[in-house]
Parts: sequence; structure tokens; C-alpha cells
Amino acid sequence: MTGSEHRVRGRERKLTGVDAKGAARRLAGAIRFRTISRQDQSNLARKEFLGLHAFLKKSYPKLHRTLHRETVNDLSLLYTWKGSDPQAEPILLMAHLDVVPVEQGTEPNWTHPPFSGTVAGGFVWGRGALDVKDGVIGIMEAVESLLAAGFAPKRTVYLAFGHDEEVLGGSGAAAVCDLLASRGARLAFVLDEGGFIRTDGMPGVPRPVALVSVAEKGYLTLDLEVRGGGGHSGMPPRRTVAGRLAAALCRLEKRPFPARLTPPVRAMFRALAREAASPYRYVYGNVRLFSPLMLAMLARTPSSDAMIRTTVAPTMLEGSGKENVMPQSVRATVNLRILPGDTRESVTARVKKVVGDPGVVVTARGQSSDPSPISDAGSPEYAALAETIASVFPDVVVAPFLMVAATDSRHFARISRQVFRFNPVRMDSGDLARIHGTDERIGVRNFGDLIAFFAALVRRTAG
Ligand SMILES: [Zn+2]
Repeated sequence: MTGSEHRVRGRERKLTGVDAKGAARRLAGAIRFRTISRQDQSNLARKEFLGLHAFLKKSYPKLHRTLHRETVNDLSLLYTWKGSDPQAEPILLMAHLDVVPVEQGTEPNWTHPPFSGTVAGGFVWGRGALDVKDGVIGIMEAVESLLAAGFAPKRTVYLAFGHDEEVLGGSGAAAVCDLLASRGARLAFVLDEGGFIRTDGMPGVPRPVALVSVAEKGYLTLDLEVRGGGGHSGMPPRRTVAGRLAAALCRLEKRPFPARLTPPVRAMFRALAREAASPYRYVYGNVRLFSPLMLAMLARTPSSDAMIRTTVAPTMLEGSGKENVMPQSVRATVNLRILPGDTRESVTARVKKVVGDPGVVVTARGQSSDPSPISDAGSPEYAALAETIASVFPDVVVAPFLMVAATDSRHFARISRQVFRFNPVRMDSGDLARIHGTDERIGVRNFGDLIAFFAALVRRTAG
């Protein structure tokens, strides 16, 4: 980083009055609440969520005096910071209060216990440090510091923190959106978690890349079931239900969904082309010409392959419960992530066609969603976001991209055309593995930049 870049960064910090150390302590405090979402929501950690609510109230007094606070379905939070200009469309900053559980038996592998909320060695450690209590606390820190500086928004600013994102946001973010929609709200833009600043990501690009998601893939889970088995395992038939199901799964694996470059991925390469070294500059800048080459390159690793096709992942298998009993029926559950351009209907039809066996019954289960609409990387709202990123992180390249995982923000497409997903945190591939994994942590300085980003964004877009 050059000297002038350091000065820019110093200026943003001073402008926003970020207290990174105090903020790190408060993030650690938030991590101590075990706001865990489990697939079975019946034993929801209600007390933990209410404890976190109270902690936020106590930690951000100015915010709670100035903003209007509502709970939605008991545990999600919606804050309204009323702007002075009723004509200006509001903006919405989002994150979620819940975290994923720590996989059983892995607790001892953590450097600091996952819910201890420890600040040590320049990091805040614990479950949620990156996904995404850093966002919740970061947004609150930013608002608190803006209030301390006497800032009053022209545009209304909403803050929404759901309680069930990790189990698809059905009663949190979706209900918050219903509430805003029922009041006739139209939002200028929505910013949720999603992309990061990848410090080691892109071939041929010598600088970190801030990946701002302009779309996310759809989500669908299908059960494949074969019935009509049963009997004694000493006298098995030649053709078993398990074999029939296994053959169906093999056919799905042999015939993956076709690969293609969607508009968000094309837009990403166009943005990278401007900063890439030769020969990448030429390849990225001529995506149409090089698409067969690009598709082959992207197909090589699962993470980039997921950007170019609808994926099919077998996740659960069920058969007999006893080693010497033939199963009455067998079932495989496959989780699909749907590429923009495909739909739940079209991918279900293709799965049935590829399976090609009427004895394998295919049914949808649980929550599902089509791919999100694609937000406009040429819009003034995207430009404001990109400029804010550049002002706080002067060394990075900003590029749009396609999110392969689901976020709460997808619920908001019906009240905003510009929905973006970006968490302003520098990450390498090691950090990525910590999300939902062991030793989740965020650097204290990194966290300070995150707060500076949110404060700068509110000033730029709502001031
Ligand atoms: Zn998350």
C-alpha cells in the first residue's frame, strides 16, 4: 500500500470516529450469546436471542434513543432511522443474528472456545465473527458513531437483522420484507452479507478483489425415493431398491447440468479485465470469444464450477435401519443450487429426465427459491457502493459476481431492484474455511475497516 493510500484510509477512520478496540470487545460480547439455528427449530435458543437483543440495547444507547426499533416474529429486529426527505427512497442494511452450530466433537480443535468471545492476538475469535455478527455489530457501531458526530440522514435508513438466516430466513427476513411491503416501502438498494474482499483469489489480478454479489443462485431440495423392497437379506432379489436408487444417482453425476456464463459472471470478468495482467487481460476482456476456454477453466474447481452451472449435491441417504433387513424403501436427498436462467420447475424436469426411471419418485421438500433477479452493476447505487469500497480500501479492485449460496436478501427482491451482497472484510482461502468451520475469527483492524465502510456508505448514500 502506498503512503497516499494510508492517508486516505486514515481520513475515513477519523471522519467516522471508529473505536476499533471497543468495537472488538462488543463483537466479542455478541459472540457469547449462543444464537444457534438448527434444522429443527423447535428448540430454538429464544433466551439467547433475547439476551443478544438486550446486549445491543445496552451497547448502543444513541442508536436506541434515535432509531425506531421493532421486533418481527419475536426474535428478528427491524430499525428505522427516519430521513428528513420523505421523497427519497430508503435504503436497507442487513445481517443476521443467528449462527450455525459448532460441529459436535470439533470444539477442542478451537484455539479459543467458540462461544467464549475472546479478543487475542489481534483477532476476535468465535462462531459468528465472520458470519455475520461482524455485520450486525459493525452496522450498529457505524450508526452509533454517525449519531455521535451529529449526522442525520436525508434518506430513511432501515437496519434488519433476521434470526433464522442459517435455516433459510422463512420467519425472519421474509417477515421483515412482508412488513415493509405492507407499508408500501420501495427501497433504493439493499445491502446484505455475501461477497468478501478476496486477497488471494483471481488469476492474473495482482490486487485484492472486492466481490459484490449482484445475484444469487436459487435453492431446491429433492427427494428421490424407490419403494417396494423389503424382505430377508438372506434372499435378496437380483434388482434391489438400493441398487436402483444408486444407479439414478450415478446417472445424475455423469450428466451434470450444462455450463454457461451468466450476466453476473460476464460482468465480473469485464471488471477484472481492467486490472488484470496480460494474457488474462485479453481473455477476461473477450469473454464471448473465449467462453469455451473460460468454461473449461472454471469447471476445474468446485467453487468456480458452481458459478457456471446448476449443481446437484446428494446430501442424505436413508435405507434399512438394520444390517440384515432389506429396506422397504430407500431415499436419497439431493440439494440443488439453481443458476440464473434456470427455474425450480426446469431443473426438476431435467432431474427426472436424467434419472429416466419412473420407479424413482422425485418430490420437492422444504423451502426453495428460484434464482434472484440480477441487480444492475451499471446503476448509480452500485457505483456508490463501489466508490465507498474504493475510499475505505484503496488497494482493491471492485467486481460484481454471482453468489452461489443463499442469503436473506433474496426475500427483498420484490421491494428493491438493486440488491447487493457484500461483507467488507479481507479474506484469503484460509479465512473462508473458517466460516461454518473451526477457529472462525476476524482481525481487529479488519473489523475497524468494516465499520468505517458502513459509516462511509451511509454518509455517501443517505447524507
Ligand atoms: Zn451468514
